Amino acid sequence: MMDDHSKLAAPCGMYCGVCAIYIAHRDDNLKFKERLTGLYGVAIDELHCKGCLSDDVFSYCRVCPIKACTAQKGIEGCHQCADFPCAHIETFPFPVGKKVMLRSVPARRELGTERWMEEEEKRYRCPRCGNALFRGVKRCRGCGEAVQMD
Ligand code: SF4
Ligand code: SF4
Ligand SMILES: [Zn+2]
Repeated sequence: MMDDHSKLAAPCGMYCGVCAIYIAHRDDNLKFKERLTGLYGVAIDELHCKGCLSDDVFSYCRVCPIKACTAQKGIEGCHQCADFPCAHIETFPFPVGKKVMLRSVPARRELGTERWMEEEEKRYRCPRCGNALFRGVKRCRGCGEAVQMD
């Protein structure tokens, strides 16, 4: 793959490689972006991101208090923080995101960042057809299988 993987290791533990916005932008998929405008409540030209640690970050993630907190502590992510899960995590406004962080941060702590990213890539695959899926999706677009991607 062409992208710089290190840019995808979001400090909050939500691996950017399985983010719908990242995937839609990477694939230059206008149809996918159109579907995402309603979901995220932003205009189509705002739907671009090359990963949390890149220089092209989606608007919501650019001002993320979790990212700011890790930067202030001088750590790579919440997996290196003894206060996890703190109030930022517990009060995170999107339920899927919170669920992912509570699962994913301990996994990253245990596996280390490289293996954690590999495991996240593997996890977001349709169990029936192997199609690549994204965070929060409820149905595989390859085969129609109901899935729960969190
Ligand atoms: S929108 Fe957020 S979660 Fe998605 S790739 Fe960008 S920084 Fe990562
Ligand atoms: S205090 Fe919370 S947001 Fe900040 S690094 Fe620790 S777990 Fe992450
Ligand atoms: Zn499938």
